[in-house]
Amino acid sequence: MVDNAPILTHQHGGLTIEGYSRAAVQTYWRIPELKIGFDLGAQPWDFMGTPTWLITHTHLDHVAALPVYVARRRMMKMEPPTLYLPEQALEDVRRLLLIMQRLDRGRMICDLRGVKAGDEIELSRENVITAFATTHTIPSLGYVVWDRRNKLKEEYHGLAGDQIRDLRLAGTQVTREVRTPLLAYTGDTSPAGLDACPAVYEAKILITELSFIRPGHRREKIHKFGHMHLDDLLERAERFKNELIICAHFSTRYHPQEVRRYLDQKLPPGLKERVKLWL
Ligand SMILES: [Zn+2]
Ligand SMILES: [Zn+2]
Repeated sequence: MVDNAPILTHQHGGLTIEGYSRAAVQTYWRIPELKIGFDLGAQPWDFMGTPTWLITHTHLDHVAALPVYVARRRMMKMEPPTLYLPEQALEDVRRLLLIMQRLDRGRMICDLRGVKAGDEIELSRENVITAFATTHTIPSLGYVVWDRRNKLKEEYHGLAGDQIRDLRLAGTQVTREVRTPLLAYTGDTSPAGLDACPAVYEAKILITELSFIRPGHRREKIHKFGHMHLDDLLERAERFKNELIICAHFSTRYHPQEVRRYLDQKLPPGLKERVKLWL
């Protein structure tokens, strides 16, 4: 195994969250059970087998390894990957790959797909992904992974099995699709991005950025640059219904011990037990 980039791991509710995220350094995540990854700030050698990636925005710390990943898949004779990214960046990323193809003399084969807020991405029979608008300094998106099941409609609950079968055979739609948000990933955003998407607060697992924590940082400035401050999280403490909240993308000006100390002091009970600091 080649150990070229750090990976932290955490398991929750049958999903494994792997990755690393520091502001201005590199951000990448992977959920092996869902066969998807988020952002390509770097590409651990081990992550190469994941065929589908969702990019939140094209800041370098989230996208620098995109050509590296595409080239690696081809070099290792794997199927061309599928990459979703904000539609505004699609043409430029296509051009970037063409330039890398010339410089590296290796073909860059992948399925690039532009996404806008509200779009749905079919992942499997059980899972669908939706994109939501986030608020950053360049076009950006967050993603929600939903679990979907077909449930019998209320009006048929009293019926026997063969009656339901007869209705179904006669062409009646006896079930409806019920969706539950499994995981939400914000990428880089100011709090307005979270507030505009209710599923962010309801998803079983939330992965959010929390770039700034120190008191005294001017919040208007942080929001203008499209980021979150600890006080934003605290103000919303009551709203988070998530089982697990992963806070990541801390600024490099903080030592991990400082982040742990601040959050230990500031997070109220009820929230603290559910927060995992990605350090
Ligand atoms: Zn970033
Ligand atoms: Zn960014």
